[in-house]
Amino acid sequence: MELMDFTEFEAFNTLREKMGTDRLGYFELFDPAIHLTGQERSQLENPGLLMKPEAIKVLPDKTLAIKNSRVLAYVPIENWFRDRREYPAYHVAMCSELEELKREHPEQEVTVTTRLSDDYELMKLRPGGDMSMVNHGFVVCKNCLHALRYKDFDLYRNRKRGYSQKVLGDFNLRDFYRLYQQYPLSFRANRDSL
Ligand SMILES: [Zn+2]
Repeated sequence: MELMDFTEFEAFNTLREKMGTDRLGYFELFDPAIHLTGQERSQLENPGLLMKPEAIKVLPDKTLAIKNSRVLAYVPIENWFRDRREYPAYHVAMCSELEELKREHPEQEVTVTTRLSDDYELMKLRPGGDMSMVNHGFVVCKNCLHALRYKDFDLYRNRKRGYSQKVLGDFNLRDFYRLYQQYPLSFRANRDSL
């Protein structure tokens, strides 16, 4: 009996296409419900995706994710920070401030991105209603570091103030994602936890 050539088999090729792979060899089963597509990955990288905070997945360790990638999130409006007299900060975890945003301003969208940078784009509203985009320097949200107890960071323990200031000052995303792998998050080891 001669087997048919499965690389020519229409149903399998359609299935392969749906799985998002054109390779015939081994591949991890692609599930668009839990795995980012190539297009989603590049959108997340630059310029990022706009979404409501409730659409962001919160992992058991409190870090933020979209499908199988950790992300950071920020309110992309310059006036938002200016009104609060705060330097723009991005969130890397579901911290008290992000919880509050979710609760008090459920309609406020945030930019979600995987890009490692010291500055991100903000929308700037000018008197008269004109709007422009500006690049602005960012710092990490200290409530996030507290929520994660990142490198033992503690916002409220006086005894540790000097040390925590140093952790905050030394923070960079490359170090952060060395501790909290950014991508890809594995769903095989502990599927329920993600
Ligand atoms: Zn935060």
